[in-house]
Amino acid sequence: MTKLLVANWKMNKNGKECLEFIEAFKAKYSGKRVAWIAPQALFTKLVINSGIPSGLQNCSEHINGAFTGEISARTFKEMGGDFVILGHSERRQYFMETSKLLNAKVKTALKESLKVVYCVGETLPEREANQTLSIVGDQIHQGLNDMSEATSENLIVAYEPVWAIGTGKTASPAQAQEVHAFIRGELKKKFPTFGEKIQLLYGGSVKPDNVEELLGQKDIDGGLVGGASLKAQDFLALCGDK
Ligand code: PEP
Repeated sequence: MTKLLVANWKMNKNGKECLEFIEAFKAKYSGKRVAWIAPQALFTKLVINSGIPSGLQNCSEHINGAFTGEISARTFKEMGGDFVILGHSERRQYFMETSKLLNAKVKTALKESLKVVYCVGETLPEREANQTLSIVGDQIHQGLNDMSEATSENLIVAYEPVWAIGTGKTASPAQAQEVHAFIRGELKKKFPTFGEKIQLLYGGSVKPDNVEELLGQKDIDGGLVGGASLKAQDFLALCGDK
């Protein structure tokens, strides 16, 4: 399976910086690994125009209506958008998004033909209390409950230990692999016909100097990347293009 690298730019980069990145990235990108970018929502069109798959970092569970300030999956699809990241720990932590709400968002996005990168992961106290697998298992079962629209093409799961996001602390390849193998097993039980083929991304301080070892693990099919996706040179290195 070709590895997938998803850039999550969060609330960073102005329009000029987006265009500079795209130009520098496209000049050296070989396509050895698949690259997707989720810029700030207002700049997704710049990424769409570049031909690189473009994503939102969140969307509404509703399609349209009186929901001031929300972003519709249908509108984004109509604009040429490709995917949406849902359940990022910053959304869960700062915007109180629960797995139940995320389940509604995942269903809406899939129905509107967007691909979904659904994020799960434990906090440090949860890891220290030996609760990693039960927390991640609950996030999988609640967030991906009753998924008639899901396929191995449109659903991607990202394991992002919260303690490794933006902290410079990476889960060791063995720690990441252990959780990925667990997630793979849960997805196989949940989706017997295609669960095994769902792409599993690791996220949490992925950098050029640790990416190969992480992506070398049996159940790690790619990465969801924050900090190291902001510089074209670094993201190119993650994509295997030095
Ligand atoms: C993220 O925010 O999804 C992430 C993985 O961030 P970082 O790579 O900076 O840890």
